[in-house]
Amino acid sequence: MFRLVNLDNRAALEHDGQWYDLATVSGDAALVDPMVAIARHAELHAVQAGLAAHAPGGLIEPSRLGPPVPNAPKVFGIALNYRAHAAESNMPLPPAPLTFTKFPNCIVGPEADIELRGNAVDWEVELVVVIGTGGRDIAAADAWFHVAGLTLGQDVSDRDVQKAGTPPQFSLGKSFDTYGPIGPALVSVDAFPDPDDIELWCDVAGERKQHSRTNDLIFGVRELIAYLSSICTLTPGDLIFTGTPSGVGMATGRFLQAGELVESHAVGIGTLRNRCVQASR
Ligand code: ZN
Repeated sequence: MFRLVNLDNRAALEHDGQWYDLATVSGDAALVDPMVAIARHAELHAVQAGLAAHAPGGLIEPSRLGPPVPNAPKVFGIALNYRAHAAESNMPLPPAPLTFTKFPNCIVGPEADIELRGNAVDWEVELVVVIGTGGRDIAAADAWFHVAGLTLGQDVSDRDVQKAGTPPQFSLGKSFDTYGPIGPALVSVDAFPDPDDIELWCDVAGERKQHSRTNDLIFGVRELIAYLSSICTLTPGDLIFTGTPSGVGMATGRFLQAGELVESHAVGIGTLRNRCVQASR
């Protein structure tokens, strides 16, 4: 297993809260780039297993962490992928994964500020899949072998923009700069007792808003990869935001306010801490 982080824009491995510079411990300068490390994910298991021979760089300071995938080629989002969330949205269950894009400019690190630009900005905690080995027409049975690892994300969503037209178009309302925090680490699939059953939750201003497990997903990770790769060739570093559980603000009309802290957690991955600030307009 491995835990890959982006520390000051360099790839690093994490063990017991300490960081190890990947280029240094591997002896391979090309692995300084997190995107190269993701494409060569199969090699990282052995590097992580050999960390005991090296001195750590130090304790990880979360403020130094960038997004573990800093230059995702494609960022897919899946809507209405938990039954209870479809119900609170008053929408029928989709017959196939209901897919939109978050443009990669929205991706930021696990402690980045969320720069609010509207009055109906919402939280959505989500498991995020990181493709490690690309492909087209990937069979569901093979899908996990194409995954570099899992991380956590917030699919921050401007509901006014998302619902402005008929039919509604999700992508721009979910693509404002800073509306895609991910991290804190990219964790290899073999680190999870069951990668199809990960507990995750979201607190806003100290109040638990969402709490679920990914075994409640309507379309699980295997099915999402099979479906998306039947249309788009997947490449290393592509991200799939797998959908959010119930408990979003839209259901009650309670949206994010400047000054509030959004804390998102997934067991086995870690915590995102994102402060909402008012963007200058
Ligand atoms: Zn979402």
